[in-house]
Amino acid sequence: MQNRTYIKDLKDHVGKEIIVAGWVDVRRDQGKMVFFDMRDVTGKVQCVALPSRAEVIEKAKTIRPEWVLKITGLVNKRPAKNVKAGVLNGEVELEVTMIEVLSGALDLPFELNESVNLDTYLDNLPYTLRSERTKDIFTMQSTILEAYRSSLRSQGFTEFVAPALVGGDAEGGAAAFKVDYFKDKIAFLATSPQFYKQIMVGPFERAFTVAKIFRAEKSATTRHLSEATCLDFEMGFIENESEPMKVLENAIKDTVRTVGKMHQDIFTRFNSSVPEIPEKIPVFTLAEAQDLITKEFNRTTEDKNDMSPEDERQICEYAKKNLKSDFVFITRFPTKKRAFYTYEDPKEAPFSRGFDLLFRGLEINSGAQRIHNYEDLVRRIVDRGMDPSKFSYYLQAFKYGMPPHGGSSTGLERFTARMLELVNVKEATSFPRDMTRIDSRLSE
Ligand code: ATP
Ligand code: MG
Repeated sequence: MQNRTYIKDLKDHVGKEIIVAGWVDVRRDQGKMVFFDMRDVTGKVQCVALPSRAEVIEKAKTIRPEWVLKITGLVNKRPAKNVKAGVLNGEVELEVTMIEVLSGALDLPFELNESVNLDTYLDNLPYTLRSERTKDIFTMQSTILEAYRSSLRSQGFTEFVAPALVGGDAEGGAAAFKVDYFKDKIAFLATSPQFYKQIMVGPFERAFTVAKIFRAEKSATTRHLSEATCLDFEMGFIENESEPMKVLENAIKDTVRTVGKMHQDIFTRFNSSVPEIPEKIPVFTLAEAQDLITKEFNRTTEDKNDMSPEDERQICEYAKKNLKSDFVFITRFPTKKRAFYTYEDPKEAPFSRGFDLLFRGLEINSGAQRIHNYEDLVRRIVDRGMDPSKFSYYLQAFKYGMPPHGGSSTGLERFTARMLELVNVKEATSFPRDMTRIDSRLSE
């Protein structure tokens, strides 16, 4: 739109006639005057329709929240008694000289910033995404994405685009959506870009991708989606898993520094704070973590081979209190509990070189050194009861020479959710899908 002024810039135009465009937020009639707030992507401003402008006031009396308007108006200083200090446009208001309705809106299901239950909120996302709280969440997410990408680039990684339709499933098929379309072949929606990022170590040595993953999770939880976004990287020529852990730690620190610099106001609105990270993120082996939990919380952990959600929560509580860290690494999971391509050093058996990163009580990342030797990888596939011929495409990368390598995968939605301490990962997903929902809620 030509000659449009963004609402955040109005204070630079006092005394001038300008054009703004956006949505009506609320309307308040006061005596013969009509007040309404206009909202665009940059903020809000109070507009006033005066009775002296007959055409304007008649139109102003018809408008409703969420109507889309183009408004011409004079930017006036507010009378001293009406100034709202510290608020955008607290010192100015717009005296409307012309209203053009670009679009009306039907009756609204509820007020935009009203708090409603999660299902109602999600059912109405095309509308509720416009609310302030939601805009904050996805502003935060957008910054996380950019900061992560920029950190990996600065660490020598090249971004590539991973496929969503895949011929074989990296995690063994259990949680994969099948696609019945290709001749003589059942394809899947990717549960991970794993194979492709390993292959990309060939051309780039250090590669990363922001990829869609699809998981046919069997239950609806606050941490699982059917479609999620992962921040993945893979790097060649490592000696052990500490190198990808270091790259991840750098990316996390860079991201936290960036959101801390840019979004202090959002943290405040969410009653949260910029995450704490000490010089080095604490690292516990699985056994150490579970011993600590038993000691600190007087609770025996049930599964010695993996962290339960309660284990994740408690080790994070411990680290926050005693080590001033919102992040914790867990290492040395039993190899049998990790993906088939996870590396195991014979001297360290039966433990693998895998790791998880926990953030404010939740796993947000898994990573590992991977098997790089072709024969070892084929043997592992067979040991897991799978057929190596099904992996022949991926296996070429190893047949034709692969350096020791490793990497990790961070769930964008979980990272965002914990950043703002949202209870449910669905709130950190602009268009969440799970067992009970694809756009709309599915009938039970
Ligand atoms: P969990 O044990 O919590 O189910 P996972 O170990 O199966 O997760 P990974 O395969 O390690 O998940 O995937 C790497 C990261 O991707 C996870 O740490 C998480 O942040 C994210 N992720 C995986 N699956 C989902 C999902 N269904 N919904 C949202 N995020 C997911
Ligand atoms: Mg994991």
